[in-house]
Amino acid sequence: MTDGIAAITARIAELRTRLGQAAPAASTSASGAAFAAKLESARAATSAAPATAPASTTHAHESSPVTGRSKLTGRMRGLINEVDQRFGPFPTIGGWRSDGGIAGGGEHPLGRAADFMLSSGGAMPSAAQRAKGREIAEWITDNADRLGVKYVIYDQKIWNPSRAAEGWRPMENRGSVTQNHYDHIHVSVN
Ligand SMILES: [Zn+2]
Repeated sequence: MTDGIAAITARIAELRTRLGQAAPAASTSASGAAFAAKLESARAATSAAPATAPASTTHAHESSPVTGRSKLTGRMRGLINEVDQRFGPFPTIGGWRSDGGIAGGGEHPLGRAADFMLSSGGAMPSAAQRAKGREIAEWITDNADRLGVKYVIYDQKIWNPSRAAEGWRPMENRGSVTQNHYDHIHVSVN
């Protein structure tokens, strides 16, 4: 690391010299200083960069609000962070809650489930939002092994790793847009 910083410092000195020689006399001082400042901040960013940088396809934005985040398992938080970075922001991400809303309780009260909301207030999502929902659901199933996925529900269909050969299986009508998972992707992890 020290060698890397020394190399960058040498490079900055070299660029400063070159810029000083190449730029017109009148603007040398100001533009040279600005350029040097940019290089300094780039150098700082390089030094502070984590060992595992996020994939280049991710985009930066504020993290979506997650309900009950502190009661989620590490694996669930990891999946949420990854999906949020890649596809967010979401209106909200439903995490832990005491009432799972299904027989047996499901995984929400265990901190092992998340609902990625595509729309708010129980409204049917737009065609564009639904297309995005399909993209997210497919990405989660494509990465199910790595993410430790137990099952995924979206668009009134369910997908289990253990029954992956059957693909997305239709579910019974539970009544509402939300209960039928038209407006969110539900993910449970092991
Ligand atoms: Zn859910």
